[in-house]
Amino acid sequence: MVKTEVVIVGAGPCGLFQIFELGLLGIKCHIVDSVPRAGGQCSTLYADKPIYDIPGYPVVGAQQLVDLLIEQASPFEPEYVLGQQITHVEKQDTGRFFVKTSAGAEFDAGALVIAGGLGAFDARPLRTPGAANHAGRNLNYHVADKERYRGKSVAILGGGDSALDWVLELHGIASNITLVHRRDEFRAQPASVNKMKQLAERADSTLSYHIGRIERIIERDDTLSGLRVVSFGDSPEAREIEFDELLVFYGLSPNLGPIANWGLELDRKMIVVETKECQTSEPGIFAIGDIVSYPGKKKLILCGFHEAAMAAFGVQRHLYPEIKQRVQFTTTSPIMHERLKVDGTI
Ligand SMILES: Cc1cc2nc3c(=O)[nH]c(=O)nc-3n(C[C@H](O)[C@H](O)[C@H](O)COP(=O)(O)OP(=O)(O)OC[C@H]3O[C@@H](n4cnc5c(N)ncnc54)[C@H](O)[C@@H]3O)c2cc1C
Repeated sequence: MVKTEVVIVGAGPCGLFQIFELGLLGIKCHIVDSVPRAGGQCSTLYADKPIYDIPGYPVVGAQQLVDLLIEQASPFEPEYVLGQQITHVEKQDTGRFFVKTSAGAEFDAGALVIAGGLGAFDARPLRTPGAANHAGRNLNYHVADKERYRGKSVAILGGGDSALDWVLELHGIASNITLVHRRDEFRAQPASVNKMKQLAERADSTLSYHIGRIERIIERDDTLSGLRVVSFGDSPEAREIEFDELLVFYGLSPNLGPIANWGLELDRKMIVVETKECQTSEPGIFAIGDIVSYPGKKKLILCGFHEAAMAAFGVQRHLYPEIKQRVQFTTTSPIMHERLKVDGTI
C-alpha cells in the first residue's frame, strides 16, 4: 500500500491545478484518473478547440492548456496513476483514508480531493444484441497492445479521432482493416480522414471503409466473427464484414460511477461542498471543479482553479492543524521559490 499525503481523484484541468496549489503549500500528492491520459474534458472532448476565458490567455488550445498545467505542476513531482478508476474510499479509525483503484492499487491517504468533473469516462458500448458477450474477448473498446492485431483482420467502428487514429496506426500492422461509420461525415481531424480515404483508394489497399448501420453480429463457434452492415438510402444494401478482431470507438460517456457510493452529501449527482475550503460532508475529503455544488457554482475552469486554491488550504488545515496559515506570494516568497525550484528572477 502506498502512503501519501493526498490522493486527487481526477486529472482534469482542476485536478492538475490542485497539484500545483498543494505543492505551493509543501504538500505532495498522487493523482489518479480512469482514462490513460491527463486532461479531463479538455483532452477527451475538445482537445483541438480554443478556449478564450482563461485569465491571461486571450486564446489557448484545450490540449495546450492541459500541457501547460502539467508543466506548471511538474516541480512538485506528482505521481500520476492513469487508466485506473478509484472505486473504493473508506475512512480508517486513524482518520486517514483507504483508497483503492480498479487495477488493485491501494493508497493510505491523509486527505482526498475529488476533481472528478462529470465523473469517470466510460466507453460507449456497441449495443447490438449479443455484442456485450464478446467484450474483452475479440471485441474491445481500447487498444492495450497493438501487437495483438499484427497479421489479423480488424474491423473498427466509429468516425471520431480515436477510430481514425487507430485505423492509421494499425494500417500495415493488421493484415486488413475495415472501418464502419454510421454517417458519411467523420468527426475526426480532416487530415486523418483524408489520409484514410487516400489509403483506401489505393489499388492494393488493405483498408476499406463503409457507411451504414450495424444490423446484427455474426458468431461462429461462440466467437464473434463478423457484422452485418446495412447501408442507408432508398435501396439499402447489406454486406457481411468478417474479422478476427473488432475495435469500437463510439466515444466516451461520463458516469459519476463509484463516487456516488462514498457516503458524501450529493445534490443532483454533484458533491455538496462549503465554499470556505471546498470540504465535503466528510471531513478530510474535499471536492473541486465541475463535480461540486454550492450556491452560485459555475462550471468553468477558472472557477475550478479558485476552488483548488481554497481546497489546498483546507487540506493543509486538515493534515497539519498546527501550521499557522498565511498567504504567500510566489513573486517574493523564498519558500515558494524553493518549492517551485526557481530563483525568483525572470
Ligand atoms: C465542448 C466543451 C467546451 C468547453 N469550453 C470551455 C471554455 O471555453 N471555458 C471553460 O472554462 N470551460 C469550458 N468547458 C468546461 C470545462 O471543460 C470543465 O469545466 C472542466 O473540464 C472541468 O474540469 P474538472 O477538472 O472539474 O473535470 P473534468 O475535466 O471532467 O475531469 C475529471 C476527470 O476525473 C476523472 N474521474 C472521474 N471519476 C473518477 C474516478 N472515480 N476515478 C478516477 N478518475 C475519475 C475523469 O476520467 C476525468 O478525466 C467546456 C466543456 C466542453 C465539453
